Amino acid sequence: MPIFPPSTSLLRLHAAAAIDARGVLAAPAALLLQLRPASPAWRTAWNDLGWPVPPVPPVSPPATASASQPIVGRPFIGLATILALGHPSQVPSPPGCLHIHRPAAVLLPGLVNAHTHLDLSAIGPLAPQGPLSERFGRFVHTVVANRPTTPADISAAIRLGARLCLQAGVVAVGDIAGAVAGRPSTDALDALAATPLGGVAFREFFAIGPGQARLFEQLGGPAALAHSPPLLPAHAPAALRFGLSPHATYSVGPQAMQAAADTPLPLAVHIAESPEERRLFAGAEGPLQSFLERIGLWTPAVAAEFLADRRPLARVRPLVGRAAPTLFIHANDLTEPEIATLGAARATIVYCPRAARWFGYPQTVGPHPYRALLAAGARVLLGTDSAINLPQADLTAHGLSPLDEARLLWQADGPFPALPMLLDHAAEAIGLPPANFRLEPGSAPAAILAADLGQTEPADPVSALFTASGGVELLVSSGFGE
Ligand SMILES: [Zn+2]
Repeated sequence: MPIFPPSTSLLRLHAAAAIDARGVLAAPAALLLQLRPASPAWRTAWNDLGWPVPPVPPVSPPATASASQPIVGRPFIGLATILALGHPSQVPSPPGCLHIHRPAAVLLPGLVNAHTHLDLSAIGPLAPQGPLSERFGRFVHTVVANRPTTPADISAAIRLGARLCLQAGVVAVGDIAGAVAGRPSTDALDALAATPLGGVAFREFFAIGPGQARLFEQLGGPAALAHSPPLLPAHAPAALRFGLSPHATYSVGPQAMQAAADTPLPLAVHIAESPEERRLFAGAEGPLQSFLERIGLWTPAVAAEFLADRRPLARVRPLVGRAAPTLFIHANDLTEPEIATLGAARATIVYCPRAARWFGYPQTVGPHPYRALLAAGARVLLGTDSAINLPQADLTAHGLSPLDEARLLWQADGPFPALPMLLDHAAEAIGLPPANFRLEPGSAPAAILAADLGQTEPADPVSALFTASGGVELLVSSGFGE
């Protein structure tokens, strides 16, 4: 029996299995944790979120805590280190230890949601309306008309989005900090930096035609974009990094795309999403052309640039193979040679399955090539996109859940390597240590979740996780060493 330091709290978790990116670690499983007090900054981040925070770590077991009376509903906020993990018969149960039993759940590390727009959370889910050919246009109109524009409203939306992430067991995000009235803004960055979430805040910018010229004028030329200072506030946790989001292939010109590629910053860009985007590059026509014309950004030079590129992927060619984290968002519409190019470059694609279905892309563009991309050597991650494109029932039950995205694919298409896409690979892609997303003795996972399976003793815990429909419970929130 190991000797445990008396000044710390011990927490023993017991569940149907423990799983991380490597698969099933033990089934059934017990996990013994050492809990130490959270830093003041970490506790403040939780308190400011309006999440119920217990006075933890507890120094003695509460009267209600015992093996038969689990503690429910509130995560332990503190620095947690795994002391032991294995079959329950092999994991000690020291005197005074707290216990949480989840016999019909699996234990998991905290998850990554690789593509979010948390500043759109307050708009909430919308039912898809109208014919498929009009969905994208109506969506753009809705976002422009309803997105928050004041710092207070943006902050409230981000805090709501952060709560929806934590409800889903998500501890890190690749979040797009939206432009406000078409201009880059730091309001969403400031708000995200005050939450417990890590990851990357990508400051969005638009730059097409006359808009590209205006951006360069403001900055002092394309080279100035390459020297964009990281603009996170001083209170930002170390686990949150600053990035740029050249918005999309149809809203950022070639020079600005190249300038973004030349920065050392993490980048996220929307690519090859819709049939409208394909039409724009193939013939300089269609709804996106009309839209750009209506907002005064369509010129003969812009048309020539689209026709020269011919395909959306050509617009982001300077971004393929960058050393810094680079996320290609959506990539619904790729040819076989394009898939081979992205695979050879070991590019990172973020697929948002429910958003793609909301827009009808499986019907209009075809099935997403995520399995072909994986086979070609690309990395594929999962994102929820914004709350707008999710079913209200899913959002209410599970928050902004990348696990729900994986379950949709697993149940529609059969098994696939979903765990690394939610854990290790996603962490690496946004610049966080994969060790914070593993369960092993000596490690300090950013969080530990219990995912409800609705059954005890599953024959295959991984399959049970992805075929279940239950929610996740955040048991421990440790953060990234803050
Ligand atoms: Zn997006």
